[in-house]
Amino acid sequence: MAFRVALNAGHYLGTVGKNCPRQLDPLMTKEWVLNNRVVTKMQKLLSAYEDIEVLRVDDPTGRTEQSFTEKRKIVNDWGADFYLGVHHNAADKIFNGGGISAFVTINPTAESVEWRDALYYEAVKETGLKGNRADPLVERDLKELRHLNCPAVLMECGFMDSTVDCPQILTEEYADKIAKAFVAVIVEKSGAKLKLSVEPQKTPTTVEKVVSITLPILKRGSRGEAVRSLQTLLNAKGAEIGVDGSFGPATDKALREFQESRDLEIDGSCGTETWTALLTKE
Ligand SMILES: [Zn+2]
Repeated sequence: MAFRVALNAGHYLGTVGKNCPRQLDPLMTKEWVLNNRVVTKMQKLLSAYEDIEVLRVDDPTGRTEQSFTEKRKIVNDWGADFYLGVHHNAADKIFNGGGISAFVTINPTAESVEWRDALYYEAVKETGLKGNRADPLVERDLKELRHLNCPAVLMECGFMDSTVDCPQILTEEYADKIAKAFVAVIVEKSGAKLKLSVEPQKTPTTVEKVVSITLPILKRGSRGEAVRSLQTLLNAKGAEIGVDGSFGPATDKALREFQESRDLEIDGSCGTETWTALLTKE
């Protein structure tokens, strides 16, 4: 049975006032953009695991917003095993504190609290963005976390209006770290295993087989299978001799002619060099 993770990138592009302040970010990046970046990275990382299903409850284009009632129904109907809302915080004033904070609803289940704490500590460990808040682990009656049937956490991944946090949370690197931290906790708690990597098979263009054989030294009087091979190879190089496994005068003559044609020592003895020449395509 797959472990079901519901993810929500908080707000949407149209939410008024949820953005980085102009003084710290001339582009006034929207909170949803930051939230979406983390969630997208999480989806990508989680897709590498077996037995984890991910459901995004916000509009991945950011163009529309669904109510919490609608989102809650989707999460509960789907039977999610864990819900995570990804946000970035704002104090509505430029300040220099901040940091990551993590929320569960009031009177939370022990499971929710465990998830919250694990996510918080992993995210701080990964990013170093501890901040100076006295209460980073919070219980609050947030609409987003109400009436969900599974453990549910809302993570605020730093303050958009903090002079300390804002430059960091705007970076791709920070989003990577946050996503990595959250996924690490999900993997740990769900016990999910990485999918076996399916690397595209290289189609060999040539089959190289290394066969080690001992080639006997053959000369007049030799007999047997090796002589048959020699006679066959000599014929392949243009000789016309019987293949009888008996190294007689005809084979001797054919071998010397072959040796002469390849500038080998003409000794009527088939040793390594002559075998090599016989076995080389030409
Ligand atoms: Zn938010």
